Amino acid sequence: MKIADVIIVGGGAAGMFAAAVLAEEAPELKVLVLEKGAKPLAKVRVSGGGRCNLTHQCADIRDFVKNYPRGGRELIGPFNRFGPAETIAWFERHGVPLVTLADGCLFPKSDTSEDVINALLKTTAEIRTNSEVSKVWKFDGGFNVKLTSGEQLSCKKVLVATGGGAFIEGLGHTIEPCVPSLFTFNTSDKEFTALAGIVVEPVRVSAPGLKADGALLITHSGVSGPAVLRLSSFGARTLAEMNYHFEMKINWLPDQSEEEIFQTLEKQRTASPRKQVGTWSPVGLSSRLWKLLVNRADVEETREWGGCSSKALRQIAAQVSGFILPIIGKNKHREEFVTCGGVRLKEVNFHPTKGREAARVRGNDRREWQTLESRLVPGLYFAGEVLDIDALTGGFNLQAAWTTGYLAAQSLRG
Ligand SMILES: Cc1cc2nc3c(=O)[nH]c(=O)nc-3n(C[C@H](O)[C@H](O)[C@H](O)COP(=O)(O)OP(=O)(O)OC[C@H]3O[C@@H](n4cnc5c(N)ncnc54)[C@H](O)[C@@H]3O)c2cc1C
Repeated sequence: MKIADVIIVGGGAAGMFAAAVLAEEAPELKVLVLEKGAKPLAKVRVSGGGRCNLTHQCADIRDFVKNYPRGGRELIGPFNRFGPAETIAWFERHGVPLVTLADGCLFPKSDTSEDVINALLKTTAEIRTNSEVSKVWKFDGGFNVKLTSGEQLSCKKVLVATGGGAFIEGLGHTIEPCVPSLFTFNTSDKEFTALAGIVVEPVRVSAPGLKADGALLITHSGVSGPAVLRLSSFGARTLAEMNYHFEMKINWLPDQSEEEIFQTLEKQRTASPRKQVGTWSPVGLSSRLWKLLVNRADVEETREWGGCSSKALRQIAAQVSGFILPIIGKNKHREEFVTCGGVRLKEVNFHPTKGREAARVRGNDRREWQTLESRLVPGLYFAGEVLDIDALTGGFNLQAAWTTGYLAAQSLRG
C-alpha cells in the first residue's frame, strides 16, 4: 500500500492544474495523480479544435458568471480569488503568452493546446496513467483509493477531478442527473431547412418557460447558433424532460413589437401598392426567409401590397414576431459534448454555512470560504466538471476547471 499526502483522481484540466499549483506552492507534499487514460489532459489537447480556448475576457465577474447556467452564483467568490485575470497571468508566467480574439475568447499565441499541456506537465507531482480508480473510502487517518487493477493506495486527502464517472456515486454525495447541454435542434419542417445557411441576428428563441437571444443559423437539420446554444444550455434539464420535442417560437425581430412591424407593413402597402409582397422584405429579412413567412401567413407571395387586407398584414407580422418551429430532437454542437449534472454544489464548501461556521470564518482568511471540500466527508475535495457546473462555449468551462483546481489546491496544502 502506497502512502501519499494527496491523491488527485483524474488528470484533466482541473486535476493537473491543482497538481501544478501544489508542486509550486507546497513542494514538500507528496502528490500522486491517477489518470485512467493513456495520457493526461486528453480533453485539453482537443479543446477549441486543438487550439484550446482556455478562458474568456472578463470586465466584470458578475457579468462573467452569466455564462454559467449552473454554478454561476457559487463561482462569484472563487472567480474573485482566482478568475480570468489570474489565469492569464499564471499561464503567461509559465511560458504561454495568450491572445484575445475579437469575440473575447483567449487562446495561446502559438495557436496550439500543446503549450498549455506542457506548462501543466512541468509539475513535480507523480502522474500514473492507465490507472482507473474504482473506489474511494475514508478510514480514521485518511483515505483508501482502489484501482480497477485491484491495487490499493492510501493518502491523507483526496481531490476528485474526474469530470464525472460511475465511482463518484459511491462517495455519499447527491449527484445531480447528467443530461446534455449545449446542442443544436432538429426540426421536421423541410421548407424551413431548405433555407439552410441563412443567419439572422439577433433573434429571440423560446420554448415553454425558456428564452434566449442572439444569432440564429438555419442548418440542414434545424437550427444552430448562439441563441440556440444558449437556450439548450440554460434549459438543459427542462428540454431533457420534454425529450427534445417541443414547439420553438422564433421572434425574427425582437427589437420591434408586432404592432410596429404591422405599421411598417402598412407603410409599404401605401408606398408600393403595385409591387408583389414576396419580392422584397420591408423589415430587412433575407428574401428567402421572407417568402416562407409570407406563405405561412397564408398570403400568396405574388399578391400585390395594395391587395393585402390589414388582417393579412397582421398575419405576416405575427409570423415575423412568433414563427413556430416544431423541434423533434437534438444534435451535437461541433465535436463538443458538454453535460450538466454532477456533485450537488450545496454539499461542497463554496461559502461558509449558516450559523457557527459562518460566524467563525466571517472576516477571517477567505481561504476558509471556498475550500471545495466536501461538507459530508472531511478531507475529500472536488474540482472541475465533476461538480454540477457547466457553461456556454467561449473558454468558460476551462476557466471553471482552472479556478476550482486552484482553490482546491490552496485547501489541500493547508
Ligand atoms: C471536444 C471538446 C472541446 C472543448 N473545447 C473547449 C474549449 O475550447 N474551451 C473550454 O473552456 N472548454 C472546452 N471544452 C470543455 C472542457 O474541455 C472541459 O470543461 C474540461 O476539460 C473539464 O475539465 P475536468 O478536469 O473537470 O475534466 P476532464 O478534462 O474530463 O478530465 C477528467 C479526467 O479524469 C479522468 N478520469 C475519469 N474517471 C477516472 C477514474 N475513475 N480514475 C482515474 N481517472 C479518471 C479522465 O480520463 C480525464 O482525463 C471542450 C470539451 C470537448 C469535449
